[in-house]
Amino acid sequence: MKILVAVKRVVDYNVKVRVKPDESDVDIGNVKMSMNPFDEIAVEEAVRLKEAGKATEVVVVSLGVKQCEETLRTALAMGADRAIHVETDEKLEPLAVAKLLKAVVETEQPQLLLLGKQAIDDDANQTAQMLAALMQLAQGTFASKIELKADEVLVTREIDGGQEQLALKLPAVISTDLRLNEPRYIKLPNIMQAKKKPLEKKTVAELGVDISPRLVQLKVTEPAERAAGIRVGNVAELADRLHHEAKVI
Ligand code: AMP
Repeated sequence: MKILVAVKRVVDYNVKVRVKPDESDVDIGNVKMSMNPFDEIAVEEAVRLKEAGKATEVVVVSLGVKQCEETLRTALAMGADRAIHVETDEKLEPLAVAKLLKAVVETEQPQLLLLGKQAIDDDANQTAQMLAALMQLAQGTFASKIELKADEVLVTREIDGGQEQLALKLPAVISTDLRLNEPRYIKLPNIMQAKKKPLEKKTVAELGVDISPRLVQLKVTEPAERAAGIRVGNVAELADRLHHEAKVI
């Protein structure tokens, strides 16, 4: 069983992003970039399935600028077997990513496709769903548990007010939620080994996919500053302010 995992290079989750002065986008110049945290969980799950003898190969794919190679090397150091980099400097919308992944999947023919539930830069939460739709495959989003069987996969999903269990026919697309696992700490020897693992390059033109944008980003702004709180003297004053000033009661 081959597992394909999509990994995106995003602004590190510890970075406080700033908006560009012209409000056209967030400023990612000189900012630390890392693997999208949900994709790290996806890689970890794939590697665990391989270690448990349930998968034979883990292939990681990243689409984007040259530096995505670093993200792929991190995934290889976590235990993935080989990597595919579709290099482009164009900004990719989720639909373009889904179409490019579909083209890769058609040649790779994995049985399981693992993606993060969302990328923490665009927060789109669309790619896995679009990929499943384009490929007409079963999908299990927000997975907190995955169990591989012979010709199906059981997925426990985090939903409002509880959990849902699905049995999906393989091949299937699954997106990972936070509680699925805790990604491993990468050791130095693994980083060294990862340098020798294969990393294949592909172009958008080779894959024959139209990645032209469908959306126009009009403006990006900082959230409004929160006003400082005030201390009230007693419950009666609180009730009065909530009624007359906040007008919420
Ligand atoms: P999104 O729909 O943008 O929130 O992204 C959801 C998931 O799609 C991510 O967690 C990744 O697994 C995958 N993905 C999105 N963009 C890329 C990309 N440029 N390269 C590889 N995987 C991606």
